[in-house]
Amino acid sequence: MSVRVRFAPSPTGPLHIGGLRTALYNYILAKKHKGTFILRIEDTDKKREVEKSEKYILDALSWLGIKPNEGPFSGGPYGPYRQSERNNIYKAYAKRLIDSKSAYYAYDSESDLNKARENLKKTGGAFKYNSANRLLFNNSLTLDSKKVKGIKEKVIRLKIPENKKINVDDQIRGRITVSPEEVEDKVLIKADGMPTYHFANVIDDYLMKITHVIRGEEWLPSLPIHKILYDAYGWNTPKFMHLPLILNTAGKGKLSKRDGEKEGYPIFPLRWKDSLGFKETGFLPEGLINYIVLLGWSPESDKEILNIREIVELFKEDKIHKGGARFDFEKAVWLNQKHIQKKAPEKLLKKFPEFFKNIADNEKLKVSLIALIQERAALLTDFEKESFLFTNSPAKYDINSLSRLDEKKSLQILKYLHDSLNNKKFVLDNWKSEMMGWGKQEGFSAKEIMQTIRMALVGSLKGPDLVSISSFIGKDAFLKRLNSFIGFLK
Ligand code: GLU
Repeated sequence: MSVRVRFAPSPTGPLHIGGLRTALYNYILAKKHKGTFILRIEDTDKKREVEKSEKYILDALSWLGIKPNEGPFSGGPYGPYRQSERNNIYKAYAKRLIDSKSAYYAYDSESDLNKARENLKKTGGAFKYNSANRLLFNNSLTLDSKKVKGIKEKVIRLKIPENKKINVDDQIRGRITVSPEEVEDKVLIKADGMPTYHFANVIDDYLMKITHVIRGEEWLPSLPIHKILYDAYGWNTPKFMHLPLILNTAGKGKLSKRDGEKEGYPIFPLRWKDSLGFKETGFLPEGLINYIVLLGWSPESDKEILNIREIVELFKEDKIHKGGARFDFEKAVWLNQKHIQKKAPEKLLKKFPEFFKNIADNEKLKVSLIALIQERAALLTDFEKESFLFTNSPAKYDINSLSRLDEKKSLQILKYLHDSLNNKKFVLDNWKSEMMGWGKQEGFSAKEIMQTIRMALVGSLKGPDLVSISSFIGKDAFLKRLNSFIGFLK
């Protein structure tokens, strides 16, 4: 049987790292087994829907190169792929459960249910509409059909079979057993006629012939309900895999938008309102994919820098971790750097032109700047920052760095270099080795020489390779920067 997996987001806001990882694992599994990756939009809860989130989800997947084989935009033989367009299907399937007595109508008003909740609160219990108390409520099990004629509001509830333990199997966590009283007689069809998540989700997984359900751990408590639904229809279940939580950097609690804001890192793939995404922060799609895939899985070898082809090759679903994965932005940045280093400068320019708009005014210069900076750039945004050092004289000299220089020695170094270049005692390409030879004779350390020249060229003690800068800016600009620093020191 060919593998069919689905990513089934609800359009209730932007995708975050967790959702992205779910999408990615599904996609990888489909690719690995030459199967089908389906996008299904679970939009039955219209109250929770957030405008533009469906488009956001699609844009985010497409930025990462995760292309669904079937879905609301690509179509496919099992559509529609938006749940709000499948209501007739759910209605028919709900009717089947009523007929087989696996579900029942319930007529309880919101205030009846609130009363029951309040009563239980007094005794310290949590309310569950279940096999233990369903006969105390207003439903088709307790009321005769004449009496319910006038009641308009009704829902359909799943009847959890009594006296029978429920066993569910998760490929990552093994077998989980729960007793029937622990599970609620969940609403399947709401008073407005729309299905709930549980119902639509199971019906669609069955009808869309899903073989593996891969989703976040937060859905694990729903699994017994889903299992009972499968049993009620006599269907086999797909295989289930519930992915571990993604924890914040401290490893305490689930990663939240607030954690990202507090510590200054993105948690969405693309910009969402005021929050910059990984894209705008300067991540390559391949850098982010590489990082995200390692949140909950690792290859058997120690190899960490992986492109999607290698990931698909190495991925083994039975190696998905059970424990929570700690989010580590620095590691993400480090991996991104490795992916930037691997790319040809021309490719970087062609694929991400927005990051190189201001670094130079023609393509040739841009490419040579990219090549010079590439080794050090961890984020695409670094190119603009670093290129500024090539294309502009320092606007100021960093105070802390200045205090590390010996003024008198620095002036000697600068003057010797300036004059030697100026009267052609040595050529631009050789200045470094010439200066090192001279320093040895005159008693200047390599560090003293290079730090002084670095200050003159970029205004601080950090920055790109000095020889690269000097050959990029040329002799005249080099002399000018030396001169300015001499003037400043004097
Ligand atoms: N619509 C659910 C979500 O938003 C899908 C959960 C599942 O994959 O079953 O995550």
